[in-house]
Amino acid sequence: MTDRPVLQMAAPRRGKPPQHFADLNHDERAALMREHGLPSFRAKQLANHYYAHLTVDPDDMTDLPADAKGPLTEAVFPPLMKKVTQLEADGGATLKTLWALHDNVKVESVLMKYPERATLCVTSQAGCGMACPFCATGQMGLTRNLSAAEIIEQVRLAARAARDGDLGGDPVRLSNVVFMGMGEPLANYKAVIATVRALVAPAPEGFGLSTRHVTVSTVGLVPAIDKLAKEGIPVTLALSLHAPDDELRNELVPINTRWSVDEALDAARRYFDATGRRVSIEYALIREMNDHAHRADLLGKKLRARGDGWVHVNPIPLNPTPGSKWTASDPAVEEEFVRTLRAHGIPTTIRDTRGSDIDGACGQLAIKEA
Ligand code: SAH
Repeated sequence: MTDRPVLQMAAPRRGKPPQHFADLNHDERAALMREHGLPSFRAKQLANHYYAHLTVDPDDMTDLPADAKGPLTEAVFPPLMKKVTQLEADGGATLKTLWALHDNVKVESVLMKYPERATLCVTSQAGCGMACPFCATGQMGLTRNLSAAEIIEQVRLAARAARDGDLGGDPVRLSNVVFMGMGEPLANYKAVIATVRALVAPAPEGFGLSTRHVTVSTVGLVPAIDKLAKEGIPVTLALSLHAPDDELRNELVPINTRWSVDEALDAARRYFDATGRRVSIEYALIREMNDHAHRADLLGKKLRARGDGWVHVNPIPLNPTPGSKWTASDPAVEEEFVRTLRAHGIPTTIRDTRGSDIDGACGQLAIKEA
């Protein structure tokens, strides 16, 4: 990988999206109502339509004054994204949607139905500046941050699709959201934490998800992990480790040159101490790259050295990106990796790979469109 993109920490300020109701906090919404000559309780009605009924259509809003609701909804709910394509997998239980944002930037989200839950994988940035060489989005570089409303709209539209039976069978309630789509969520902290607040706030101010059912996945931006730990919203933290030693992790997750394996693991342990939430370690198993028994052993030792019961490991077979020289580990090697970690007392479960036949690995669909 000689022509690997350089790390980009800040997004270029290109194509700022229009401001949307979901970008505003309580006071800003009240002020907006005043601007429209309306009492502030109208903000609560709008929030109820948006977060509880999942609608922005004035025809659904019978409790708003007939002459005001058209112009009002147009002003507060500007369209932020249009569906470009939608792909189905797993017999209709997985739906992957490619969206065009207002500036025609493409992002994707994936909705997955399981027997006990429905999970949405959301995008937090168009592209990504972290440059992990095995990740499709990592190859694109960073285009821009998404606004809070652009992330929240992915959730509203998915919750609506699930409710309306788009996943097949009975209506489904969206129960889980994972920040594992395109982008590094903690590099777009402000919009991501605003989204997290909207996810867990009870209706009508939010979608009312349980904090346990929200997962923020990161390459390991240590100061941002510490900041997240202090928000008082104990979401699940996933740390994309992919290697237990700095030499290899510098290559697989280039930000490691800034915050090392030990620093990232210490931050993950502090996150557990602050929130009581068991941290997930993500580990894409790449054949003869990071899948050696000695690496499983080192990982087990490093996790155990930081205590008991604070962490579990989620290995996932690599979903090879087009043109990549890397491929997934052999099943037997995968099994040994898991066995070794468990022998160290580390709970380990292979993550399922939904939708790999529809370019499920993050960024692959958007790359094809581009
Ligand atoms: N930037 C965040 C979240 C985005 S990706 C992060 O890195 O955690 C969510 C997870 O998918 C991460 O663990 C990422 O490393 C992993 N991933 C990316 N490309 C993959 C691929 N081709 N196969 C398997 N996992 C992949």
